[in-house]
Amino acid sequence: MSARQCPNCMAFVPAGQIVAYSYDLVCPSCQHPLEIATVSVYLSAFAGLVAGALVWWLANAHYSKESGALSWVLPMLYSYLAFSVVAPPALVFTADLKLKPLDAVDVQYGTSTAPPSHHHQLFDTLP
Ligand SMILES: [Zn+2]
Repeated sequence: MSARQCPNCMAFVPAGQIVAYSYDLVCPSCQHPLEIATVSVYLSAFAGLVAGALVWWLANAHYSKESGALSWVLPMLYSYLAFSVVAPPALVFTADLKLKPLDAVDVQYGTSTAPPSHHHQLFDTLP
């Protein structure tokens, strides 16, 4: 089975849907609730962190000769941007979909309030 494929009907879930509704996925073909395998979420978060660390290191070396607040703010800003740019596509490429148990869906719908924005969900999965 390849990434982004529904285990129930073998249809492919659009990449945008995986990034936008990582924790609230429904198969566009058979309407079965889906979830992304934990390993895929961790892999994409890890790829984002590696990119962020790399960018921070490069930016820090670049700004180290300058004094002032921006010289340490900018590397952090760039590394955050790198994380935001790298992690979602990495999730799309690695997303291994599983069928979500229906009882878990009912519990989730009963207790959930406003869904958090997808940008912070990636951070929330980190240990
Ligand atoms: Zn399906």
